[in-house]
Amino acid sequence: MPQVAVMSPDGSVNKIDRDSNEALAALRQLTALMLKAALHDQFPGIRLGDAVADDSQFFVDSDKDDQQVSADELEALEVAIKGLAKNDTKVDFVKMSVEDAVKEVAADPFSKELIEEHAEDGQVAMYQLGNIKAVAVAPVMVYGNVVKNYRLLSVAGAYWKGMSSNPMLQRIYGTSFFKKEDLEADLQARQEAKERDHRVIGNQLDLFFVDPKVGAGLPYWLPKGATIRRVIERYIIDKEVGDDYEHVYTPVLMNLDAYKTSGHWDHYREDMFPPMDMGDGEMLELRPMNCPSHIQVFKHHIRSYRDLPLRIAELGMMHRYEKSGALSGLQRVREMTLNDGHTFVTLDQIQAEFSKILKLIMDVYKDFNINDYTFRLSYRDPKNTEKYFANDEMWEQAQRMLKGAMDDLGLDYYEAEGEAAFYGPKLDIQTKTALGNEETMSTIQLDFMLPEKFDLHYIGEDGQQHRPVMIHRGVVGTMERFMAYLTEIYKGAFPTWLAPQQVNIIPVSEDKHGEYADAVAKALKHLNIRAKVDHRNEKMGYKIRESQTQKTPYTLVVGDDELANQAVSVRKYGEKEQTSMSQADFTAMIQADIATYSRE
Ligand code: ATP
Ligand code: ZN
Repeated sequence: MPQVAVMSPDGSVNKIDRDSNEALAALRQLTALMLKAALHDQFPGIRLGDAVADDSQFFVDSDKDDQQVSADELEALEVAIKGLAKNDTKVDFVKMSVEDAVKEVAADPFSKELIEEHAEDGQVAMYQLGNIKAVAVAPVMVYGNVVKNYRLLSVAGAYWKGMSSNPMLQRIYGTSFFKKEDLEADLQARQEAKERDHRVIGNQLDLFFVDPKVGAGLPYWLPKGATIRRVIERYIIDKEVGDDYEHVYTPVLMNLDAYKTSGHWDHYREDMFPPMDMGDGEMLELRPMNCPSHIQVFKHHIRSYRDLPLRIAELGMMHRYEKSGALSGLQRVREMTLNDGHTFVTLDQIQAEFSKILKLIMDVYKDFNINDYTFRLSYRDPKNTEKYFANDEMWEQAQRMLKGAMDDLGLDYYEAEGEAAFYGPKLDIQTKTALGNEETMSTIQLDFMLPEKFDLHYIGEDGQQHRPVMIHRGVVGTMERFMAYLTEIYKGAFPTWLAPQQVNIIPVSEDKHGEYADAVAKALKHLNIRAKVDHRNEKMGYKIRESQTQKTPYTLVVGDDELANQAVSVRKYGEKEQTSMSQADFTAMIQADIATYSRE
């Protein structure tokens, strides 16, 4: 195994395995240090902030009086790094007094703050490389000649210390590897990620936007994105109504007392928006969950055992106070709509209801062609029962039922002891995103606690009051995160049933064929097929290409022959050849395509 020399922030040098993660992090730290030195040399007076390396990349923050470093300048900086990464380049360790260190960085308030932050007994440890000294924070590779395979990737704004009350610095991202092939594989994976990034595709296809100036984490669904969402919402409501759910609409604002009763105010407050004081003693809260709302629906009538299982569902809008740094496109937002549902059952009904929900979820996955998923069953920790809602019998019975249901359905699952929620056991269904990250898409959670807190009951066969069990379940999660997921797995090429525009019709000549094109579109729209004619005064080749970049499932070209034969010339997205067919045949074809998901 090749060994490499690494210096720790205390100045000691050790040899470590070149193939270890520690070595890779130290290599990136050195590359970041070189970038700092290059910035210092190229832009006199530049102020330098944090330089951080992790398991995927590194970054360096900087600030200038004039324009910040731009993406166009990265190449020149890469060349400057090359100049530093020579055989005789070496990182030196210097321990100096805080006063001397501060003198060295005179006009740089960020470096000064870093020095003071890392000072110990009036002394601070610094790495010296080229013309700079930087506070020693993390281990760094000693010899410069290991920096060979690196790339500066991008620039973005970042607040000093991550706080929006601080100045905005310019963050330069880069990566660095020991081996050329590792760098190439990483760059290719990044390219793939970029092509799939739902924020990029969302912009290209004009699906949605989020503008921090009008509200961070508050997405605007543009007509095309809204169309996709509407199709999904109609689909899911129809599916649930068909599965005996009662769909409701409940308010996004609720009296804060409900969240005090539920326990969210005590345990979940930092994810909630501050309450609104209405001035007359009433405090209103933007709901972070829909459970208390559905509980009100349950409580509105006296319920008998004959009403159970009672299934209340809603595409419920909710608000969560996510940190601004965590927000990301539609993946993590502050206003979201959850495909939520709460089932109220007797203890004996848990198993059957659990199976029913699971079947619904798997059915929906099939329709969206989601095949890569795994199950995670979470129990309480039997050795630490005081961490959980106290009712041994309920826990034992419920866990047995969930396991029994999974076994009856012949499903494989991972059992996670000690990972249950405080209020009950649960099943999470984990999917893989297009970039290979695991994400919880669906969840079924038993809850013994909320029925208790809200004093829910139903009248049993014996005429007595009994406590129901509540099951929280989400099928596709929030519309926002689901949309981000679908955009990435489909790479923006939505299947025909979801595509915002299903058919794009291009007349060869506007004068001769424009009217016929409109007639074709009208007939399709009459069948609820989303068709439009491209009447713009552009070349045909341009229109066809745009139809492809917009990933429209079907592009129809209509000219003299098509007009004469009441036909259309069809090109499917991603295919090269064009086929001529009668309007009727095309209609039959696209209808069969749209219906793929419900034909089982
Ligand atoms: P996370 O761990 O991702 O914050 P959570 O465990 O808090 O999520 P739940 O309370 O179980 O999430 O939320 C229900 C659903 O809402 C999940 O499907 C989750 O993917 C989705 N969700 C949660 N927070 C957000 C958000 N900020 N933006 C979009 N979807 C979200
Ligand atoms: Zn709930």
